[in-house]
Amino acid sequence: MSNALRDADIRYVLHPYTNLAAHEEKGPMIAVRGEGVKVFDTAGKEYIEGMAGLWCASLGFSEPRLREAALRQMDALPFFHQFGHKSHAPGIELAERLIGMAPDGLTKVFFANSGSEANDTVVKIVRYMNNILGRPQKKKIIARERAYHGVTVAAASLTGLPVNHRAFDLPIEGVVRTGCPHHYRYARPGESEDAFATRLADELEAQILAEGPETVAAFIAEPVQGAGGVIIPPATYFDKIQAVLKKYDILMVADEVICGFGRTGNAWGSQTYNIRPDILTCAKALSSAYLPISAVLVSDAVYQAVKKGSAEIGSFGHGYTYSAHPVAAAVALETLKIYEERDLFAHTRAVSPTFVTHLMRYADHPLVGNARGIGLVGALELVADKATKESFPPAAAVAARLVELAQEEGLILRSLAGDIVSFCPPLIITDAELDEMFTRFDRAMERLTAQLGI
Ligand code: PLP
Repeated sequence: MSNALRDADIRYVLHPYTNLAAHEEKGPMIAVRGEGVKVFDTAGKEYIEGMAGLWCASLGFSEPRLREAALRQMDALPFFHQFGHKSHAPGIELAERLIGMAPDGLTKVFFANSGSEANDTVVKIVRYMNNILGRPQKKKIIARERAYHGVTVAAASLTGLPVNHRAFDLPIEGVVRTGCPHHYRYARPGESEDAFATRLADELEAQILAEGPETVAAFIAEPVQGAGGVIIPPATYFDKIQAVLKKYDILMVADEVICGFGRTGNAWGSQTYNIRPDILTCAKALSSAYLPISAVLVSDAVYQAVKKGSAEIGSFGHGYTYSAHPVAAAVALETLKIYEERDLFAHTRAVSPTFVTHLMRYADHPLVGNARGIGLVGALELVADKATKESFPPAAAVAARLVELAQEEGLILRSLAGDIVSFCPPLIITDAELDEMFTRFDRAMERLTAQLGI
């Protein structure tokens, strides 16, 4: 059965984010079953899912309450929508609950199906509101180097990674790129974290002045940059950035697609970093990934502009067939109830020291230039030379090899550009499971070190 599946996969599936020629040689790891923080493949081999899938399955892979919530909604009403003057209970209750837990000032929720769609919606809302407010020149959005905001045409344009632009004729017009707050890589010699944050904010202000503040509408940022390398900003970074944004009437958009729902130890990354968003996007852990759903939360000022536009034009001309899909919304609602009832964000804070301590054991390892973690997200950045921070040649694919070895040892991780290995386990993980996860990782690292002759 597994050989037939493997062959069919190679024959028929165009894999996302995959070197397709290499895949035809290598074939897939095919998962068939999940249990807690683990998944099992067709041969019955067990893996700890050290990435919670794609930074998303926070309740692990076998939560019965989510299955039951989906079944109940399937039985009651498998589909309805919120277009025009229609609605349904899961979509209403989920919006109410999200606003109840959201950072101050966010008052309305628009639903979509993915992080990309949510961020695409932000681009459209920003254009719409400024056209309606009679300032059509104020439309540029500032996004950062190494940002990840998704892959639809507008969201991929906000994303700051070459792989998402090259050969796609992206980015679209109107995206301004600013610096990434990765102190280890981009600070000047001897520059403190605070001085580095000050410099980034000064550079941002200079860019805004060069563009013309009247042309800049919004700044979008992940509290902790995820796919760009698990980049944890200096503690004072967002305060300094937001002071600049406020001065020039520029909206702060927090992309909480990874950080939302406890990942950094608080409900929102915005809380961890003192971000006061005008717009917030979330997805992934909103439903613990059991069904696709995302949300855009907006302030009253943004909502009022959109409302004015909808009256002038006759309708707010944006919405997906599956905006607030009732089954996905019911599962998301149940997910948020579970987070609260089990105090899962407090659990994250409680196990985080075990997680971060394991990562920090690697700070002195000869292959590791930088070890970092917060809450339950972290990374090891591999370097050829610790002193100079020189990277390995890309062809050496050192992080990818480490991830492959970890997979052989029964641990799923992810390698990111820049020889970074990322860790993002389900939030339900226990101290004992974290110890086991790093025992498997230790074995993989020993094997890599031996292969490289270090
Ligand atoms: N924003 C962030 C911060 C993400 O990490 C991701 C996906 O990894 C996205 C947006 C895009 O979400 P999706 O893949 O659901 O479109």
